[in-house]
Amino acid sequence: MIILDGKKTSNDIKEEIAIEVAELLSSGKKRPHLAAILVGNDGASETYVNAKVKACEKAGLQSTLVRFEDKVSEEELLAAIEQINQDVSIDGLIVQLPLPKHIDEMKVTESIFPEKDVDGFHPSNIGKMTLNLPTFLPATPAGIIELLTRYNVETSGKHCVVIGRSHIVGSPMSILMARNCDPGNCTVTLTHSRTQNLKAITKTADILIVALGKAEFVNADMVKEGVCVIDVGISRVKSDKTKSGWKLLGDVAFDDVKDKCAYITPVPGGVGPMTIAMLLKNTLLAAKSKS
Ligand code: NAP
Repeated sequence: MIILDGKKTSNDIKEEIAIEVAELLSSGKKRPHLAAILVGNDGASETYVNAKVKACEKAGLQSTLVRFEDKVSEEELLAAIEQINQDVSIDGLIVQLPLPKHIDEMKVTESIFPEKDVDGFHPSNIGKMTLNLPTFLPATPAGIIELLTRYNVETSGKHCVVIGRSHIVGSPMSILMARNCDPGNCTVTLTHSRTQNLKAITKTADILIVALGKAEFVNADMVKEGVCVIDVGISRVKSDKTKSGWKLLGDVAFDDVKDKCAYITPVPGGVGPMTIAMLLKNTLLAAKSKS
């Protein structure tokens, strides 16, 4: 069994980005700049945004964090996005999701200039991804593709089963794995909460990508020998064994499943750090596409 080490791979990517940033600077270009908008004080969102800002520093990118209280109006938020859209010193913009209920997330996503949409969520970028045109790929699916690439996981002709059909993970993942490219060329089954007899389907997976948000949902009974398991899930659960009083669990019961796997991602240290690395890569791409 091989662990797909997202922590190490993401550090490699950050070092590669830092080299490219240094090259940009030495050729007289400016430092790539990511702006992040955070609304409210949700603990998980705060952790993710702080990790993104820290990763920018490590890779030599400039970052700006714009914070709003959770009672901010939709108009105020859209105005801030428009200001960043127009700011030529900023290359990429992300708005940390979820947003408070009174704000229309799709409206916010659509208001970001597609050329600054380094999360890859704008309908125009999703459309380009579907057509296999150059664009910003959504960061989490892009991180999974990068892991499969760097570990030389064979995907062509394989049966890939995806659990979860969210716009940010499951759906784009199913599109990317079915594309006529490498990694890709899989026969893909996209499953969700209405799927019947899920276990019978997951047991036929050569590659199983799990993104449903239910801690340790997938167990050894649901997978076949030699499977490649990609665990996207992150759930915070209470724990009396950690100082903080909580721990992170994936959607896969790692200890139960690992011995049947050819490859598996751990949680933490698998897909999560890769997501951040791909966000930085998209920001570098945004900056380079302007020069
Ligand atoms: P989401 O929007 O929470 O949607 C969950 C999906 O799972 C839905 O499509 C739902 O089906 C499906 N589902 C729920 N119960 C199911 C069941 N019993 N059997 C089969 N499918 C079921 O998904 P998400 O935003 O992609 O998040 C999923 C998990 O990934 C969460 O733990 C999240 O924190 C994590 N995540 C991690 C990263 C990272 O960087 N590591 C990034 C993003 C998300 P329906 O559509 O029918 O409701």
